[in-house]
Amino acid sequence: MTKTKLAIIGSGPAGYTAAVYAARARLEPHIFAGFKSGGQLMWTTEVENYPGFTDGIMGPDLMMQFRGQAERFGAHVEDIFVTAVDFSQRPFKLWTALPDNMAPDFFETASPEDIKALTIRIKKELEPACEAESVVVATGASSIMVGVPGEKEFLARGVSTCAVCDAAFFRDKVTYVVGGGDSAMEDTMALTKFAKSVTVIHRRDAFRASQIMQERVLNNEKVKVLWNTTLDAVTGDDKVTGITITENGEKKELPADGVFIAIGHKPMNQIFQDQLQLDNHGYIVTRQSGTKAGVEAASAAVDDAGIVTFPSMTSVEGVFAAGDNVDVRYKQAVTAAGQGCSAALDAERWLERQ
Ligand code: NAP
Repeated sequence: MTKTKLAIIGSGPAGYTAAVYAARARLEPHIFAGFKSGGQLMWTTEVENYPGFTDGIMGPDLMMQFRGQAERFGAHVEDIFVTAVDFSQRPFKLWTALPDNMAPDFFETASPEDIKALTIRIKKELEPACEAESVVVATGASSIMVGVPGEKEFLARGVSTCAVCDAAFFRDKVTYVVGGGDSAMEDTMALTKFAKSVTVIHRRDAFRASQIMQERVLNNEKVKVLWNTTLDAVTGDDKVTGITITENGEKKELPADGVFIAIGHKPMNQIFQDQLQLDNHGYIVTRQSGTKAGVEAASAAVDDAGIVTFPSMTSVEGVFAAGDNVDVRYKQAVTAAGQGCSAALDAERWLERQ
């Protein structure tokens, strides 16, 4: 079993930045990087807004740099998924195994009740993989699905949540993107490089995306937008052949080869639901969360000098959180990295006091 001063769960910008700082503080952090190490930026092409890269950098290259930097200072990175945790007493316990015959993709569709039941089973039947004196939770966020018939059935058979990863498979094909935020704009632009046509399906009459991203999409002659339109179903045989939509109240069936779902993300906090305080959107509450619950936690943690102690601390002493699974508002690589830095510094100072 691994014993560590600091376990870091998650390997996006928050997790790796926490690892760089913790490793340089000689905490010898152990990072549980998950199966898809590197987080959401692994599914991105050009990142133009991460400071320090005048000409931009590819998302996967940036994440490889993060990882290499953490390892250079002695962080141990394990490409494995944490399946359950016990934060009720110290040292904290983390499990990485699953009962026989269970696949890790269980977590992608499981309900909160399923996960509660699984956690009980894991703790009863399996040995923990790690004991940690402190933990940084940096598990990020994952794609939200629309929830219409055919959407899940045709995942990877014409339905995708990542145009950046899959656009090249849709050369000269008829494609649709659902959503009106920056993710949808980014997916649309990625698809224009390959597809015959890209049609954005948006439920309102205006995009939510940043102005510059909207302009790129609206000025691209390959792109058409269906305003006030919802996706009702994805249809096909062994792969997608069509979609059903409602456009301005009128039902329509359209031929389609690819459907890209880009309507946002949900925080990956399922395994912490009974361990840490979450807000009503499922985000972990810390003393710096920009929510009512976060403000309450912060006011209860003000010291004699009027300063909030350990801002990245969760509702459990010694467990800190950082990144998109905490941040209801910004969700940027640079804000996640900044939060990872705070969490590592808080963990270091908290451990010193123990
Ligand atoms: P988002 O900003 O929350 O946008 C989600 C979009 O999906 C909205 O247009 C929303 O419609 C629509 N939507 C939500 N639920 C839906 C449903 N059930 N059916 C149909 N449509 C639905 O999410 P995001 O685009 O993933 O962006 C999240 C954050 O990451 C933002 O802060 C964004 O700026 C940032 N981001 C930045 C970049 C970049 O800079 N390169 C790239 C991606 C994301 P309504 O507008 O009607 O609510």
